[in-house]
Parts: sequence; C-alpha cells; structure tokens
Amino acid sequence: MDTRDYIVLEDLYGAHNYHPLDIVLTRGKGIWVWDVEGKKYLDFLSAYSAVNQGHCHPRVIKALESQAEKLTLTSRAFRNDQWPLLAKELCELTGYEMALPMNSGAEAVETAIKIARKWAYKKRGVPQDRAEIIACSNNFHGRTITLISFSSEPLYRNDFGPFTPGFVMVPYGDTAALETAINPNTAAFLVEPIQAEAGIIVPPEGYIKEAKKICERHNVLFIADEIQTGLGRTGKLLACEHEGVKPDVLVLGKSMGGGCYAISAVLSPRTILGLFKPGEHGSTFGANPLACAVAREALRVLVEEELIENSAEQGKYFLEKLKTLKSRHIEEVRGKGLLLGIELKPEAGGARRYCEALKEEGLLCKETHENVIRFAPPLIIKQKDLNWAFKRVHQVFKKI
Ligand SMILES: *Cc1c(COP(=O)(O)O)cnc(C)c1O
Repeated sequence: MDTRDYIVLEDLYGAHNYHPLDIVLTRGKGIWVWDVEGKKYLDFLSAYSAVNQGHCHPRVIKALESQAEKLTLTSRAFRNDQWPLLAKELCELTGYEMALPMNSGAEAVETAIKIARKWAYKKRGVPQDRAEIIACSNNFHGRTITLISFSSEPLYRNDFGPFTPGFVMVPYGDTAALETAINPNTAAFLVEPIQAEAGIIVPPEGYIKEAKKICERHNVLFIADEIQTGLGRTGKLLACEHEGVKPDVLVLGKSMGGGCYAISAVLSPRTILGLFKPGEHGSTFGANPLACAVAREALRVLVEEELIENSAEQGKYFLEKLKTLKSRHIEEVRGKGLLLGIELKPEAGGARRYCEALKEEGLLCKETHENVIRFAPPLIIKQKDLNWAFKRVHQVFKKI
C-alpha cells in the first residue's frame, strides 16, 4: 500500500470531518515523523499541542508499557493505585486542591461547566436552571452540542441545533463587555488565555488580569481553558501566569497524556469541585490506571527535562526569526512561547497553500482558519532544528 491507497481507503470508509494534508504518517520519534514512503518531516503542529513531549518519548512509552502489563482499566467502581498519585502530583504541580479526571478536552470543559452551574446554585443562590456562563467570541472549547452552542463559528454550528441554553457571548479581549454582561445569574466566565484555534489570537496585555479582577468583584468563577496553552506551551506552566492570574477553575488536556493517551482534568479549590457528590458525574475510562501512569510520567518529563523553560527560550528565538521574514503577504507574526502564528494578508491566497508548500520542504504545519499558519513544534525542540525549520519557512515565503 502506498500513500494513494491509504487516502482512497480513508476517504471511502472514514467520515470526512477533517481536511488533512495528504501525507500518511507511520512512525514518529521526538520532533520527527516519517510517512509511508519513508520521507521524514519535522512536526510543527504537535497534534495541536498534544505531543509537547515529542513523539514516542522513551520515558512515556516505558510508563505506558509497564502499566499496560499490570492493570489498564478498573472503572471508578473500584479504586486503583495510579489515580491517587496522579491527583496529588497534578495538584502539587498546579497549586490546586482537587482534580477531576476525564478523557477528552471537551469532556473536561463540560465538567467545568457542570460544576460552575452547581456552584452558582449552592453557593450563590442563583435560582435553579437560571445559571449563565459567559464565553468569548471566536472561542474553541470542543465539539459537543453544549460547547458548540456558544461557538461563533458557523462551520462548527450550522445544521447541529437545537443548542444548549445558558450561555452569553462577549467579544474576546474586551473587559468592559465582560463586566456589562455579568448579571446576578452569572456563574462563570470561560476563557482561553490565548485563542489558539481562532488563529493564535493574543488578547491585549492585561486582559486576563483585569477579567479575573472583574470576576472577583462580582463573585463569578474565572474558568481558564488551558487545554492547548497549558503545560508549558506558551513558555509558562500555565498561560495565565503571564499575567499573574490563578484561575478558579483550570481545564487541562492534550499534552497531559504525553502524546500517547487521551486524558484531561479539571482542577479547582475544594470549595468548588468538592461540591460533586457520588453519582453526579463520571466517566468509565476516567482515571484509568493506564492513562494515569502515562500522565504521571508525561508531567515528570515536562518538569525534569525543563520543557517549560525550553519553550520560553526557543519560542522567543523563533518569534524573532519569524519577524525578520520579508514578505508583502504577511500581516502579523505573533504568539507566546512555542505557540506562534503568521497571519497572512487576505490577498495572500490563504494559509493552506503555504502549508502544502512547507510540507514539500519537510515541515508539517497546519492552517488555522483561512489566513493563519500555526507553528507549534514539540517543546523538546532545539535551536538547530528551529534554524532548519526557519530555512524552509524562508524558502517558501520567497517562492510564493
Ligand atoms: C483541543 C481543545 C479542546 C478540545 O479538546 P478535545 O480533546 O479535542 O476534546 C478544548 N479547548 C481547547 C482550547 C483546545 O485547544
């Protein structure tokens, strides 16, 4: 079978809910991946930041293998010996008191919404079924019906209604609009510290800090979706730290699973997650020992290999390099840590053809929306590999 054969099969039997670049990967190691033709590429997307530790990190794979031989799934009907340790280590790492484990990012955001609503009824006296959650325009929190109910992207919503009520939208980056939208029924403000899927949208400086203050003033929970920005991606453990903010509720996912297992979590003080009673929420695969063992090792790798520091350092270096690109097609270069993007001018003909051209040069990137090329390599990347990548980016901008 060659590339064509796989594509034909996938497109025949698989639903077409993605528009992937036409390359078929079969192997990965660190920052590199290989396709079925044996061609090697630098992964500059990291599975939307789920592969921050790099592909098949030896320590993560070892943890996976040794746990797989011992115990993989208990359900929460019984306890296992991995979840208590992950819960403790995760809380100690992030500075929270309690954690609730789920599998996908979307499930964790749903969990945060559920507990924010319960908190509003129990702690704030909001009348039953009246709790409101404020979200931002151009947000991305996942694909469930509830989460797309407050998406502003028609592609995510059209034909999928009816939608879940109880959400209010405000423009991203606008603290005055946030404060105006708050009313006595407002339970929480849900926000991404950088909107990655929207095209690496970095809000005005001070936005996160001011939004947190507004939430405190009105006794509204500040929920940060750090599924993509968290765990070192932006050069800090959490992107909210850039403005010295500690969210009331933190949502993590993606690289928590070290690039090889789906695991997500919600973290908060005891006064919030402590409100869940047995039976009110759960997941069959949540906190399974295999996921927990992998996540424990993935977090240790993040800290012990100093990936956060590396993300800050290499991100700064690469952003400066990108700023030296001379092209009439570039509108802006932006981002934090190793979450970077080039926004193209509308007349550039879209980011897709740049990603196609970069792929030919051996650099795997993906457009986000029409006009933004995202650069998000694994956080283990070294300066010499960034130089290699920059050469390709430079080439492509010279050619197109
Ligand atoms: C990827 C992502 C999600 C959804 O995570 P899934 O694991 O795909 O459900 C939610 N929020 C943000 C900010 C994300 O980047």
